[in-house]
Amino acid sequence: MKRRNSMHPDLILYNGKIRSFAANGSTFEALASAGGRIVATGASDEIRRLAGRDTEQIDLEGRTAIPGLTDTHVHLAEKGTAEMEFVDCRDFYTETYSIGDILQTLAKRAAETPKGSWIVAHGSPMQDFRLKEKHFPDRHDLDRAIPDHPVSISFGAHITIANTLALKLAKITKDSADPAGGAIRKDPQTGEPTGELHERAQLLLRKAAPVFSYLQLKDGIVYALNQCLERGVTTVHDIVRSGEPVRAYQEIFKEGKLPARVSLLPRVIESFIESKSLIELGLITGFGNEWLRVGGVKMSIDGGITGRNACFYDPYEDDEHNCGIIRIEQDELNETVLRCHTAGLRCCVHAIGDRAFDMALGAYENAIEKSPRKDHRHRIEHMGNWLASPERMQRMVRSGIIAIPNIAIGYYVGDAILDCVGEKRLTKAFPFRTLLKNGVIIAGGSDSPGYWPVDPLRDIAACVSRRMRWGDVWIPEERISLQEAFAMHTTTAAYVGFEENDKGTLEVGKLADIAVCAEDPFVIQPEKIKDLKVEMTIVGGEVGYRA
Ligand SMILES: [Zn+2]
Repeated sequence: MKRRNSMHPDLILYNGKIRSFAANGSTFEALASAGGRIVATGASDEIRRLAGRDTEQIDLEGRTAIPGLTDTHVHLAEKGTAEMEFVDCRDFYTETYSIGDILQTLAKRAAETPKGSWIVAHGSPMQDFRLKEKHFPDRHDLDRAIPDHPVSISFGAHITIANTLALKLAKITKDSADPAGGAIRKDPQTGEPTGELHERAQLLLRKAAPVFSYLQLKDGIVYALNQCLERGVTTVHDIVRSGEPVRAYQEIFKEGKLPARVSLLPRVIESFIESKSLIELGLITGFGNEWLRVGGVKMSIDGGITGRNACFYDPYEDDEHNCGIIRIEQDELNETVLRCHTAGLRCCVHAIGDRAFDMALGAYENAIEKSPRKDHRHRIEHMGNWLASPERMQRMVRSGIIAIPNIAIGYYVGDAILDCVGEKRLTKAFPFRTLLKNGVIIAGGSDSPGYWPVDPLRDIAACVSRRMRWGDVWIPEERISLQEAFAMHTTTAAYVGFEENDKGTLEVGKLADIAVCAEDPFVIQPEKIKDLKVEMTIVGGEVGYRA
């Protein structure tokens, strides 16, 4: 038995198969926690002997417990509320096969909504690829079904379509110029906007639509974090772009209602938050406590792949004039990264296309050269999805840059991405075996919950089985082991959060963040892990979720 102090435990789990995920691979039957941390591990009878009068004892009945999981890239505060309020037209979760189906769902909501009030809906990324018509609805389609309400429907994070009333409220006309880093699609004949807005142009619409109140935002955050607990997730790295969610998180924490731990990644370009403000405040990475802290800053170089706006050197297969959009030029990027790096703020730069990868690497190399610092743990969001050439991997390892790939995007829309990016560029998509072999540090981020729910078990199953939702076993030679896939959401994810002393394994001294599974994930078929039920999730020694 390993034991830390003489305090009576608050909680004892016993009669289980507790997988520590420690380097020595140890498992034990029982564990005790006090004050939120693990104080003892060992055999059931010896741990139970530590119990005091007030100790809660839970019989695991032979079930497997693992460390609580981390998702290192989510848009939770923003999209959590959306999950509660928005009209769901995502084909992964609803019976939506055609533009007609979308219009019907929207019209139904319109019938229950006072005229003139906004209707805000979510579709899925690349849904045009799967809709019967093989294209998105345009503003005229939306007008036909919903003439009296402003309507906006986003298809992933990078494309939003508005009806005529919504365009009018956002003051988008045939004379509106494209905002920098965005595009207002126009009819080639009439020059009138079609309603389709890309990247930064979507902000014009968002500014016009009063989406939700502060109280709704707070409720939405709690709701979305509770959803995370249902999948064994006890930590998320959440990207925020205004002070509102930051304030909401602090209030929820103070009220003692934060269901899971959050590392905040404020976005500092195309955001209401400026890097200057954070630096002037003197905030550095890690500020906060074990529930809520500053994890670094986020910025986006190119657009999203699902809007065909990720920036490649070569054009898209299905759009020969399009190489994507650069949202931050190299000078501004270098300057911002250097400023944050020097101030002690870890950077998380979004790059999806190969041109954007090289820009991100260039900015990091420049900052590290000018202001050498070990242990910066800078990240490139979405690197490791594809085009990880030997040279790029070498640069990553040399500078200690972490890759945050997103297997969920391959799982859900890999077939559509194959069509637009092309087989050739994707011969080594999600090359996790190769990345690990070359020493690149990878941790898992899902980009949830706007696209799909936070669910590392789904992502782990995909990494190990390479079985995608659209049917294929995609590039099986890049499979990784179950331990390696779990590490992306436990031990490595803890390192990525600068929290390896607190999280990632179940060992004496670490936070008692634990997921109890219905079956042992190391025994069932890898593909089935995505359906593995989480029966209980414990955060800081307290049961946060019970099935
Ligand atoms: Zn993202």
